[in-house]
Amino acid sequence: MEIPAFLSTLLTRQYAPADVRRILAGFDTPRRTTLRVNRIRAEQAAVREALDRSGITTQPVAWYEDALVVLHAREDALMQLDMYARGDIYVQSLSSMIPPLVLGAQPGENVLDMAAAPGGKTTQIAALTGDRALITACERNGARVERLRYNVIRQGASRVTVMHRDARQLDDLFAFDRVLLDAPCSGSGTVSRESRGRFSPEYLARTVHLQRTLLDKAIRLLKPGCEMVYSTCSILSAENEEILLPALKKGSVDVIPIETEAFAGVPLLPVTIPGTMCVCPDELYEGFFVARLRKRPKK
Ligand code: SAM
Repeated sequence: MEIPAFLSTLLTRQYAPADVRRILAGFDTPRRTTLRVNRIRAEQAAVREALDRSGITTQPVAWYEDALVVLHAREDALMQLDMYARGDIYVQSLSSMIPPLVLGAQPGENVLDMAAAPGGKTTQIAALTGDRALITACERNGARVERLRYNVIRQGASRVTVMHRDARQLDDLFAFDRVLLDAPCSGSGTVSRESRGRFSPEYLARTVHLQRTLLDKAIRLLKPGCEMVYSTCSILSAENEEILLPALKKGSVDVIPIETEAFAGVPLLPVTIPGTMCVCPDELYEGFFVARLRKRPKK
């Protein structure tokens, strides 16, 4: 499969030949449909049984009891089901379920999801906290805000405030216990036979600038001593480690190492900042980057 020349150059510059081969093979392998059982509305066992009765076989995922891999059915078959319309299940890539798990939000906490639409991670955070975290879900794009609102309501996440706002404009007087910045990115981890993406030096430069500005804002909005997650569906260090480096050098945040043993079986790529995590695309996973950061307490 051919990928854009600029992406190929960047991958070859960043990764060893064996890793580039793994990445290209991952891009070329059709990805399985995966879903998350919405714990606010349903139980995993009941969902599996109901899917079975509809002729849809699923497989559990070792590191997350709410995740299921769908065997021999595509997303459109799931979309016909009542349980889909009710919000009992949400079609979500396995890699994108990792950041909310790493974030570890707790009931009662004030959580900011800075770039939230269509709401996969917002609603997952709600489910993980038993719908007891106070979540502010911010999104710049109007059409995507509507999708976010729809998903939040459908999934019964009752403590989510949706904000139609450019997160760069959020008032610095806000202070959150946790922040998720699932940043807009090139999508280099999600290249597939169907979607090759658009990659150019100009587009990447604009995206990197936005990611840097959003990360600075996220750190300002986080309470001292509290934690945030920075994630992208990109496997390019320009959008990942290099975005984190200025903040790490300045000493405003520290990396809290992600315990990758908790994600048994997830295929990983090498990272240049120890403790961060980069998922290699394959049959089950999109390429994804996740970093857990703690804001330094005030002296
Ligand atoms: N977290 C989402 C989920 O799990 O469903 C996916 C987020 S997607 C990677 C990035 C989102 O950021 C897009 O919906 C995009 O419209 C939004 N976005 C881009 N720039 C933004 C900004 N300055 N402020 C807020 N949202 C922004």
